Amino acid sequence: MPRLNASSQVSRGRDCLECGAAYQTDKQTSQFCSAACRRAYNNRRQTRGAELYDLFMAHRFDRSAARALRVLSMLNRLASMYREEDRRERGSRRSWTPPEVVAERAPHLRAIVLLKRGAR
Ligand SMILES: [Zn+2]
Repeated sequence: MPRLNASSQVSRGRDCLECGAAYQTDKQTSQFCSAACRRAYNNRRQTRGAELYDLFMAHRFDRSAARALRVLSMLNRLASMYREEDRRERGSRRSWTPPEVVAERAPHLRAIVLLKRGAR
């Protein structure tokens, strides 16, 4: 149940996306209990993203090499390893941003969602 604090902002109870701890916040977009948790979450995404980026770009634009090296299988293996690590070390908390949020943040991607909806 939200409550009012001294500055009349609504305080909300949340669970930290990184450590899972319950915390109170006045910020509508808050996802982390501390700066350390925000950094840990973003650093992991950055490290994982760098591995995935190179393989995905090869999969998309260097097809023959990617096929020969089974890059798509590598991508799937990495995703499975990341998910298993999340289950083991993070209490199964999701480590990625939902695609609808990614699309909402990026107008050039939002147009794809709108085109898909229009096709129904
Ligand atoms: Zn935390």
